[in-house]
Amino acid sequence: MKKETEILILGAGASGLMLASLLERDNYLILDNNPKVGSKILVSGGGKCNITNGNLKPKNYLAEQRFVRNVLKRFDNYDLLEWLGERGLKLVVRKNHQYFCKNSAKELVSLFEKEINSKKILLNQKIKEVKKIDRGFEVVTSRGSIFSKKVVVATGGLSFPKLGATSIGYDIAKTFGHKVSTISSALVGFTLQPEEFFFKELSGISTEVKITIGDRVIDGSLLFAHKGISGPAVLNASLYWKKGKITIDFIPSVNLEAIKSSKKNISRVLELPNRVAKAFLEKLEVEDRACRELTRDEWKKIETLKSYSFAPAGTFGFSKAEVTKGGVVLDEVDSSNMMSKKVDNLYFIGEVLDVTGELGGYNFQWAFSSAYVCAKGFRR
Ligand SMILES: Cc1cc2nc3c(=O)[nH]c(=O)nc-3n(C[C@H](O)[C@H](O)[C@H](O)COP(=O)(O)OP(=O)(O)OC[C@H]3O[C@@H](n4cnc5c(N)ncnc54)[C@H](O)[C@@H]3O)c2cc1C
Repeated sequence: MKKETEILILGAGASGLMLASLLERDNYLILDNNPKVGSKILVSGGGKCNITNGNLKPKNYLAEQRFVRNVLKRFDNYDLLEWLGERGLKLVVRKNHQYFCKNSAKELVSLFEKEINSKKILLNQKIKEVKKIDRGFEVVTSRGSIFSKKVVVATGGLSFPKLGATSIGYDIAKTFGHKVSTISSALVGFTLQPEEFFFKELSGISTEVKITIGDRVIDGSLLFAHKGISGPAVLNASLYWKKGKITIDFIPSVNLEAIKSSKKNISRVLELPNRVAKAFLEKLEVEDRACRELTRDEWKKIETLKSYSFAPAGTFGFSKAEVTKGGVVLDEVDSSNMMSKKVDNLYFIGEVLDVTGELGGYNFQWAFSSAYVCAKGFRR
């Protein structure tokens, strides 16, 4: 039997599920290559999904600011919290205004499952191609074709291929003449050059830092990892990294002038975890002894911890990245309904667009806000 629908949502991730939940009539189908919906939601935020942030501004996104503002003002963090609250989802606020599911990310996925007619969800179907036909679109999948008047591309980015990510959204955009800006992994750790390999021996330890990258200064924790460096401050820095150097202040709260006369050993006053302090002192060839005994040259070396500059070798890549930077260029999409300005009835929502949020719930908020704007657009 020929499968036909009015609205076909490609991708049952964050944005696709929100869109399907907001549609008032049963005139849609939503399909995904995974055996279940919301795969990324389930693993996000350590299994508790950082849904949004209490502090939401367009500047939390690497994107064309007017477009983002237009979308967020229609459905912002408060609207999202209200919508979720009305449906009984319990949330908690943690550090940096981040909202998480109180118990488990499964509750958010269950909420969507309740809102969506299960007969409308088609799983284990890989989208291969989208073609324009007279009455709309033919979407070719691994299980045959589906015909639809409107198609919404909600297939996300390239990060975490093991959770179903593919390049199909970008491929569809290009097929229909859309520009796709350069794609790279973001919210991801950095790998190191040999000079910084000593960081790897500190794997598992985290410390508060200030990272300067271009004209951005990012505060937060850095986690020394087996493969390099990670942690919230590093992940946010990766958003702005385009090869080249980054500068890390490893001792942001230490006033070096104030400790120079201290009787305490230098490793004790640097406000670094002991093993980290020792590793840096060894690297700098400064013997760990009373601060007031250190020479001028030694203080010069210690000062470099305030502006430790180095070029990461690369990133941990798409297999570890939380998001994909770049995507479908915004000036070819209408921010009032998320429809392509090139092809009528073709829509783009979520991460497939050239919008990348900082760490802290901003990417789910974008997925949900863009889905809302799209849903409202259908009704006009
Ligand atoms: C480990 C991890 C943790 C994260 N934690 C957070 C967090 O706590 N807070 C936050 O804000 N953001 C987080 N993110 C980012 C967030 O998950 C994404 O930005 C968000 O899910 C994007 O929503 P989307 O609907 O655009 O895409 P997705 O949610 O990725 O959905 C796209 C769907 O399309 C499907 N698909 C792709 N290609 C095909 C194809 N060819 N055929 C059929 N189906 C296909 C995919 O399987 C997927 O189900 C995290 C990401 C990862 C990887």
